[in-house]
Amino acid sequence: MHLLPAWLRSWWKEERHRTRRRAWRGRGLQVLAAGLLVLGLLRCGADPLPALLLLAGLLTLRIQQQLGLRRLRLEQDIELKRSQERLRRSNHQLDALLRQLGGPQLVEELESSPNLELKIQRLASRLERLLQSARSLALVDQLTQLPNRRQFLEQIQVASARARRANQPFAVLFVDIDQFRNLNDTYGHATGDRALIAVARKLQDTVRLGDFLARYGSDEFAVLMDLSAIPAADEDTLKSRAYQFASRLVQSFADSLNVGDSELMVNVSVGVSVVPPGETQAEGILRNLDTAIVQAKRQRHERVAIFDVHSSGSSNLNDYQLFSDLRQAMRERQLHMVFQPVVNAEGGWLSLEALARWQHPELGFIPPDRFIALAERYRLMRDLGDLIFQLSLQGYAKIREAVQQPGLRLSANISPTQLSDPDLHLRLLAMLKTAGLEPGQITLEITEASVLERNAATTTNLEQLRRAGFRLSLDDFGTGYSSLNLLHTLQPNEVKIDQSFVRAISEQGFAGQIVAVIASMSQHMDLEVVAEGVEDANVLAALQALGVEKFQGYHFYRPMPPEQLSQQAGPANTTPATGSKP
Ligand code: C2E
Ligand code: CA
Ligand code: CA
Repeated sequence: MHLLPAWLRSWWKEERHRTRRRAWRGRGLQVLAAGLLVLGLLRCGADPLPALLLLAGLLTLRIQQQLGLRRLRLEQDIELKRSQERLRRSNHQLDALLRQLGGPQLVEELESSPNLELKIQRLASRLERLLQSARSLALVDQLTQLPNRRQFLEQIQVASARARRANQPFAVLFVDIDQFRNLNDTYGHATGDRALIAVARKLQDTVRLGDFLARYGSDEFAVLMDLSAIPAADEDTLKSRAYQFASRLVQSFADSLNVGDSELMVNVSVGVSVVPPGETQAEGILRNLDTAIVQAKRQRHERVAIFDVHSSGSSNLNDYQLFSDLRQAMRERQLHMVFQPVVNAEGGWLSLEALARWQHPELGFIPPDRFIALAERYRLMRDLGDLIFQLSLQGYAKIREAVQQPGLRLSANISPTQLSDPDLHLRLLAMLKTAGLEPGQITLEITEASVLERNAATTTNLEQLRRAGFRLSLDDFGTGYSSLNLLHTLQPNEVKIDQSFVRAISEQGFAGQIVAVIASMSQHMDLEVVAEGVEDANVLAALQALGVEKFQGYHFYRPMPPEQLSQQAGPANTTPATGSKP
């Protein structure tokens, strides 16, 4: 694979020939001049010939000088014309975008101005505003229209800050649909989706004003329960009120749910964690929530489990249960990696993103973002990150061997705490060396959050990683707060437009606008743009129309283990893939 575009390469080759020709011509003239001068000097006498020879030598030198000057002027002219053309084209593109984004007023204001910098500034601030309004999109679950996990976690931060200030207790409830996978398998995904919507409505009807309901995971919902009416010191009342509420939620599913044409029985389990007035750190609250979730899922008979923060012993054990399960999983190799190709519009593979999977022996599939967050909180991420990277390199090697595509890269996700570890670059380099791979083959996907929370170690790491030759990709682009600033400070090689925009592209005007601006700005910034979460041909076509050229999503490939993915490499590598693959 060539790093430079074809036109640039052929121009460069031609230029080298031209320079060589010019050099020979110049040297010829110099030799002639020197010869004439020497002859003239040797034959110095009464003869007029030497003087003539000297004159001819000097004239030749002068001609050479003139020729050089003319060539220089000619080159300057050509360069000037080229950059004028580039400027004209950029200006034209920007005008088109501003017309699309800024409306007639902005166009009128800027049309007369040839100032490219001003236009880019305007475009940047317009994008910043669009991104702000689009954050809402990244915070809502598109299926149920409830707030999503991201928003729920933000809300917990807000509630814990309030608890700290105003001594107001609250509870966190985690609602899990029992046997949802069975329901999905039996009735199909469309019915599964309708059931999720019905469950969401039912929960919405049951929670009270002031409570905050969100869709937390695929078949999980979470509630932030307002307990501010109860005195913070009255722990028993706090707990029993939360317990009653959880039981009411369970009870509300006693009748069957109306899902399309059929009536379905759906049961839920609820884990409850009352957040006492002293517990004001969001981190501790999340840890309790994890425990409550595990307890609720382990519970076979009782459908409500309360996580008791104050009692020691058994609850502490529970607190660390999932975490120690994870440690065991790492020892016993319960973790494995799946790979999802990043492709061009024809479905040809460009890179393979490695995604971690954990099949818990009792609890079943645990989503990677959940166990990654757990490892981060309990300081296990360094070891887990290393294990994941090693497994990723192994899987990547397997697939490369099977598909024989030398330019194929590996994309590895790096979590925030990994990025703040001062030795990260050294350990990654050591693992690569053992595997016989080069940093240039690896793209490290980092999220806005890890760069926003950056400390000295993160900054050094990013610098070292870049210098070592790793490619950097800004993942989930558009979901954080300062996306544009980040592009300047991080200077990534790639941005991955978050799934929330990609999926909304056909419905929401501004989602398309954001993608258009990112795609256009990326051309000026030497930045590759990948759209993730591409699930159907319509979205793909819309993205292409907006100038995006790299994609990832179920429309092309689902994440798969190396063996399975290697078998799919054949024709899909050159022709567009249709429909989602298993
Ligand atoms: P991410 O890095 O944004 O990964 C993309 C997620 O979208 C993956 O979910 C992938 O399976 C899913 N996905 C891909 N195509 C589609 C599509 O067309 N439609 C939909 N609805 N989803 C699609 P997954 O594997 O559950 O991972 C979730 C997140 O967990 C990842 O988000 C990443 O932040 C984290 N994660 C996963 N594996 C690792 C890992 O090995 N290390 C680290 N640090 N984080 C990981
Ligand atoms: Ca990623
Ligand atoms: Ca992402």
